Amino acid sequence: MIDTHCHLDATEFDVDRDAVFAQAIEAGVTKIVVPSVERANFGAVASLCREHTQCRATYGIHPMYVDRAQESDLDALRTMLKNEPAIAVGEIGLDRFVEPRDEVKQHFYFVEQLKIAKEFDLPIVLHVRRAVDAVLKELRRMKLCGGIAHAFNGSRQQAEEFTKLGFVLGFGGAMTFTRALHIRELAARLPIETIVLETDAPDISPHWLNGSRNSPDQLPQIAQTLAELRAVSVAEIISATSKNAIRALPRLAALH
Ligand SMILES: [Zn+2]
Repeated sequence: MIDTHCHLDATEFDVDRDAVFAQAIEAGVTKIVVPSVERANFGAVASLCREHTQCRATYGIHPMYVDRAQESDLDALRTMLKNEPAIAVGEIGLDRFVEPRDEVKQHFYFVEQLKIAKEFDLPIVLHVRRAVDAVLKELRRMKLCGGIAHAFNGSRQQAEEFTKLGFVLGFGGAMTFTRALHIRELAARLPIETIVLETDAPDISPHWLNGSRNSPDQLPQIAQTLAELRAVSVAEIISATSKNAIRALPRLAALH
């Protein structure tokens, strides 16, 4: 079982990171994708992934962190991709939900990082909120090798557009809420080939955690939720979503 999005380096895990990691392995999580969000955490993500062979790093500047970014951070990103094993560029994207935001700066860092992904021939891990069409427009222009649209919450048609561009869609804690009708409908109806599992820990806690810290050991129960929504076995969900994750991020399959 692959957790395709987990911020294991986050300060929320400082007190018990090793225990959290051990519980995830115990729960059957075999690989954890750890996306970075800004230059300041590149080092932490790299050392975490060096320490734990099940973890795989992605490097990038998250749209919610571009306020603090400088153009030299793009050089730092290139340096990381040259020197550290990375399976993707991410998480990058556009977020038109957060306030305040600098849309011009977000767009600049997004496009520059798409160029870097192309330069290194790497897939990308996308963070997109209220900006799906703007993101799709850039992806069509750049012709990248695909990746993951994390915490997908677009329309059915936008899902198909992502799929055409080689992307799979991340589903996690949000679909465990019965009131999340749209996400549950997508999770139930989209072709299984387009879906990967994620926790986004420590964020997006599934409903049964009642708002407390999310962790990667929740992935089996998230897989169970998807199995129930689709009325198939959890084994089928795990096998399909793991295959999809490796197709989207081929370096997940490589040895460390
Ligand atoms: Zn994230």
